[in-house]
Parts: sequence; C-alpha cells; structure tokens
Amino acid sequence: MQKNLVMGNWKLNGNKNEIHTFLNDLNLIIQGYDKCEVSVAFPVMYLDYASQILSELKSNIKLGAQNADTHNQGAYTGDISPKMLKELNVQLVIIGHSERREYHSESNELIAQKFKALQEIGLTPVLCIGESEEQNENGETLSILAKQLDAVINLNGINSMQKAVIAYEPIWAIGTGKAATANQAQEIHNAIRNHLASYSKEVAENVIIQYGGSVKPENAEEFFKMNDINGALVGGASLKAESFAGIVKS
Ligand code: PEP
Repeated sequence: MQKNLVMGNWKLNGNKNEIHTFLNDLNLIIQGYDKCEVSVAFPVMYLDYASQILSELKSNIKLGAQNADTHNQGAYTGDISPKMLKELNVQLVIIGHSERREYHSESNELIAQKFKALQEIGLTPVLCIGESEEQNENGETLSILAKQLDAVINLNGINSMQKAVIAYEPIWAIGTGKAATANQAQEIHNAIRNHLASYSKEVAENVIIQYGGSVKPENAEEFFKMNDINGALVGGASLKAESFAGIVKS
C-alpha cells in the first residue's frame, strides 16, 4: 500500500507573496513528518515559482497542478500540456474536479483522455469523482461514481488505477462547510473499492482513495480513522499553512 496523500487545491487563489510565505511556513511545520505524502496544486501561473521555492527548500512537498490538456503540443490556444507541467517538476495533476466538469463541461470521456495523457508522460492523475446533491437524494450516487470510474477504466485499463489517486468529492460538500460524515464517506469509499475489485482485487486494495469536501483540521482525524479513506483533497483549508498542516498531521 502506498502512503496516504493529503493534497491542497488552491483553485483560483493566491499570489507569489502568499505562495512564498505558505511554502516556507508549511515546510517548517511539517519538517521531518513522513507519515503521509503532501502535495499542493497552485494555479498554473505560479507553478514555476512554487517549483523554485520547493527546490530551494529541498522540500518533500510534491508540486501539483489543477488541470491539463490531452495534447502535448499543437494548435490548442490557452491549453497547458502534461509535458509542460512535467518540465516544471509537477508530479500530481487534479483532473475531473467538479468545478471543471460543471464550468467547462468536461465529460467522463474527456477526463479519461486527460488521465491517459498524464500517465503517458509519467504524471500521476488525481481523478475526482462525486455526485451532486440531487443525485445523492435520488439514490444515484453509486451509479454516477461507477460511470465516472468506468470511463477511465475502459480507456486505460484497470491497472492504470494503480498509478493514480482517486478523490471522492461529493459536490454538495465542496466549499459548503457541510462535509459528509466520516461514516458516510467510509461507506462510499468501500463501495468504490468494491467496484474496482470487480475488475481487480489487487488494484482495489492498493489504490489511494482520498475524501474531499469541507475537510478541516477539526474533522480530518475522523476521516483518517476510517479503513478505506487514504487522505484528503482540501480546498479552502489548504490556503493557510497552519490549517493545512493541521490536516496533514491528523
Ligand atoms: C475541493 O475543491 O476539492 C474541495 C474539497 O474544497 P473544500 O475543501 O473547500 O470543500
């Protein structure tokens, strides 16, 4: 089993000054701490800057990105390629975040292509899956998650999941302060593992499945006690070094 992963997602927030302070503070607070992997995905404009700071600090914090295109070059105005991210020392790339699915109409099939492009260049996809509040209330959660996973598995094969991270993020819990309970999340994580086990027991046992949705220092430990929860994807609470470090240390 790989180590648990706590990853921050800064979304469209921050500036050079804030990133500088954040990385210096975080690195200091979690120095010598090796119980889990730690990563932060900054806005793409600041990845080069963050990469330089991490290298000066000789930090183990892994640099993350929030999106990538399916192509590595060509006439794709405004896009960022996996190859470019790799050149900036990015290691993990969030794909399929509900904000990209919603505001950029990203389909399961496109996300599966992004997953493929990232793995081909040696980057680790952090595949976000999750249901809306309405789907949850209609009892559609598991079928929605299965569709989101199957699109990736059909294109890339089940073994591709072994070199990826899955982030279960119920959309109704993202940025709302209304986190799932640890028991609710555990139940869904277990169902995700069972779904993967229908393809491969080995992959199901080994894949990292993070929970995401209003995780903060106060509730992180409850989630991390659960058998099938292997870390967290953190939005709001990742913007301050102290609160993010509080989650890492949970
Ligand atoms: C996210 O954006 O992936 C997220 C989980 O946000 P928050 O922690 O703010 O709910």
